Amino acid sequence: MKTHYFDRDSLPLAGELLAKGALVAFPTETVYGLGANALSQEAVQRIFSAKGRPSDNPLIVHISKSEDLATLVRAVSPVAQKLMDRFWPGPLTLVFPKTDAVPDVVTAGLDSVAVRMPEHPWALELLEHAGVPVAAPSANRSGTPSATTWEAVRDDLDGRVEGIVCGPPTDIGLESTVVDTTGLHPRVLRPGKVSYEELMKVCSDIEPYRGSEIVSESTIGNHEGSSPHAPNSPGLRHRHYQPIARVRIVLHPGSTPPKKTCYIGIEPPPPATGYMACCLVRTLDEYARVLFDFFRHADRLGADQIECQQVPEIGLGTALMDRLQRASMSSD
Ligand code: AMP
Ligand code: MG
Repeated sequence: MKTHYFDRDSLPLAGELLAKGALVAFPTETVYGLGANALSQEAVQRIFSAKGRPSDNPLIVHISKSEDLATLVRAVSPVAQKLMDRFWPGPLTLVFPKTDAVPDVVTAGLDSVAVRMPEHPWALELLEHAGVPVAAPSANRSGTPSATTWEAVRDDLDGRVEGIVCGPPTDIGLESTVVDTTGLHPRVLRPGKVSYEELMKVCSDIEPYRGSEIVSESTIGNHEGSSPHAPNSPGLRHRHYQPIARVRIVLHPGSTPPKKTCYIGIEPPPPATGYMACCLVRTLDEYARVLFDFFRHADRLGADQIECQQVPEIGLGTALMDRLQRASMSSD
């Protein structure tokens, strides 16, 4: 398949393609998304084959205005309304009870649907032109670090999708916060840029993120063995964010790191320590923004190992540590 590359001026064309059932990757403020018309089962099905994504991992549906919710969700609870008023458009995904218009393939057969209104101007413009809600997971091959630049999307998906919108690198660099609003109390299913501390200010009864079990790709589909306490956010069980190099979380940079090791963190290593590549960040925001791109850089260099400095689990630090822990988990 030939992949077409779009600039901002050709967003109307990219939107038209999406509406017709094509796959188009596009920038959002979190990471690049791989979009398909969320109301078309055939279009959404193709996302799973393009990414190699397990079909029991549900997708987030993207909308450009609140009115679009009516087609997708059966009810908006008062708490969901408060969260939307405060955080939309933005990096917060909310889980609602779904309508019959949402094909099962989008939600992996669940009775609920995850919806987000991004704030990236290119994403909003594209959604407007598409005129349909757009299901979009991160635009990378399943299991690998999410794509935060259009070049990373190209490396993973060229020839597998109809279009890639070549926007700027993403600003946040980590996937959205996911909050389930279908239960008695709202609950954080995935930490992201909108932190638990910020969410607490809007709903004080919100339940924090608890992490969840992870299974390897090889056990996917073996539901007989699945635990009775399977997490409510199914996709979180899968292997995620892993570069080819092994990821290790470290307290401090080493003074004599092993050969072919890269380092990312806030604390600079002692001079001339022999890291293959070093990425020094000043803030948690910067750490999040560059992390996945650095993983990809380290793989291009042929690194064996990436040492990532641990950060405190508060604010964005909770999301960063979640991604680092998942990236560092062995998948077998
Ligand atoms: P991704 O598209 O890779 O950013 O992943 C989307 C994630 O959102 C999934 O892996 C789930 O963890 C979560 N999610 C999507 N839909 C639902 C849903 N209906 N209920 C609970 N979690 C969901
Ligand atoms: Mg993903």
